[in-house]
Amino acid sequence: DSTDVVILGAGPAGLVLANLLLDAGVGCVVLERADREHVQTRARAGFLAANTVRVLERHGLADGLRRGGREHSVCEFRTGDGRFRLDYSGLGRGEPHTVYPQQELVTDLLTRFLAAGGDLRFATEAVAVHDPDTTQPWVETRDADGRPGRWTGRYVAGCDGRHGAARRSLPPGAVRIHRRDHGVSWLGLLAEAPPSLDAVGYAMHERGFAGHMARTPETTRYYLQCEPGTSPASWSEERIWDELTVRMRAADYGALHHGRIVQSTVVDLESDVLEPLRHGSLFLAGDAAGLISPSAAKGANLAVLAAEILAEALVDDLRNADPGPLSRYSARCLAHIWRAQEFSLWMIRLLHRAPGQDDEALFQEQLRRARVESLRTSRTHQDWFADNYVGI
Ligand code: FAD
Repeated sequence: DSTDVVILGAGPAGLVLANLLLDAGVGCVVLERADREHVQTRARAGFLAANTVRVLERHGLADGLRRGGREHSVCEFRTGDGRFRLDYSGLGRGEPHTVYPQQELVTDLLTRFLAAGGDLRFATEAVAVHDPDTTQPWVETRDADGRPGRWTGRYVAGCDGRHGAARRSLPPGAVRIHRRDHGVSWLGLLAEAPPSLDAVGYAMHERGFAGHMARTPETTRYYLQCEPGTSPASWSEERIWDELTVRMRAADYGALHHGRIVQSTVVDLESDVLEPLRHGSLFLAGDAAGLISPSAAKGANLAVLAAEILAEALVDDLRNADPGPLSRYSARCLAHIWRAQEFSLWMIRLLHRAPGQDDEALFQEQLRRARVESLRTSRTHQDWFADNYVGI
C-alpha cells in the first residue's frame, strides 16, 4: 500500500500530525503496534502547557479538553525549613496548566481522526523503515498474527517513541544522540484517590523527593524517589503510603487521601536528544526525537508542538511545493527541545540532593538550599520559573 506520509505510532505526536494532515488533504496512514484498548487506557502525562492547548484549539482538537480539562496554577514546595506556594498563573506570562489525562487526549484525537475518515491500523507493528535516504521510503510491518506487510510513502514520520522502529532504522552515524543519565529514579505511582492538596506538591526530604500531581477528581499521580535499579514489586502499598506520608510531611501539612495503587513503574530520569531530527525522508517527532525526564512534565507538550511544526512543513512541501519549512523542521524543534531540557535539568537539581556525603555533595546541597530560597523570595526568579514551568 502507499500514501503520502506513513506515520508510526498513535501517541500524541502521531495523532496530532495525522489529524492535521488529514484536514489539509494530505494522504496518511497511522501504524500502531498496540490495540485500541491499550492505546486509549495508557495513563501517562496530564499537565498540558498553555501553548499545547492553543495548538489543539487552533486545529479544532480541543473539544474534549475544554469539557474535561481543569485549570491548574499553583505549586507548593515543602522542605525541612517550611513550605511555600507559587501561583504561577499570576507570574511570568500569567499562564496556567490544563490538567487532562493523556489517555483522554489520545482517545479524543483518534476518535476524531477515525470519524473524519482517517486510516489508522491498530495491532500493526512497524518493524523497520527502509530506504529512508530515497524519495520512496517504505515501512516493513507485522500484524498481531505475525503476517508481514509493507507501506510506501513520500515521507515517514517516526512518532513511535524511544524504542520504536524509526530510531532503530537510522543508519549508524546518520544522527548524533546526546544522552544523559541524571542518576535519579522515581517510582511513578497512580493512586485511585482524590488529590490531597490543591497544588502540585514538590516535597524535598532527606529520605528523597516525593511529588504529588492531580489527574482527575478520583485519581492522583505520586512520585517517590527510589534507588536506581529498584523493582516496583519491592514497594508494597503500605510502604508507599508510609513513605509518602513522611516525605510529604503530612503530619505538618495535612493527611494524604489514601487509595489503591493502580500503576507502579520505575522511571529513570534520563534525557536524550537526536540531532538532526531528520534523515532523508524520515522525520522524528515526540519521544522518538528526544526523551526528557518527567521532572518538568514537558514530554507530551513537546510532542504536540513538534507534530504541529512537522504537519505544517509537510503540507507546505506536498501541497505547495515549498520544501523550505521541512528543511528547517529539525532546527526549529531542537530549539524548543533544548530549552525544555535545560529547565528539566534545573528542576532535577532543585528537587534532589546530590548523592553521597563528600565535600562536593555537601557543597551542592548548600547551593540547592540557596536555589530554593531564591525561588521562595525573589519575584524575578519566580517569574522566570513560571515562564519555563508552563512555557514550551
Ligand atoms: P508515545 O505516547 O509513546 O506514543 C508512541 C506510540 O507508538 C505508542 O502508541 C506505541 O505503542 C507506538 N509504537 C511504539 N513502537 C512502535 C512500532 N514499532 N510500530 C508501531 N507503533 C509503535 N509528559 C508531559 O508532558 N507531562 C507529564 O505530566 C508527563 N508525565 C509522564 C508520566 C509517566 C509515568 C511517563 C512514562 C511519561 C510522562 N510524560 C509526561 C511523557 C509523555 O507521556 C511522553 O513524552 C509522550 O507520551 C510522548 O508522546 P509520543 O507521541 O511521542 O509517544
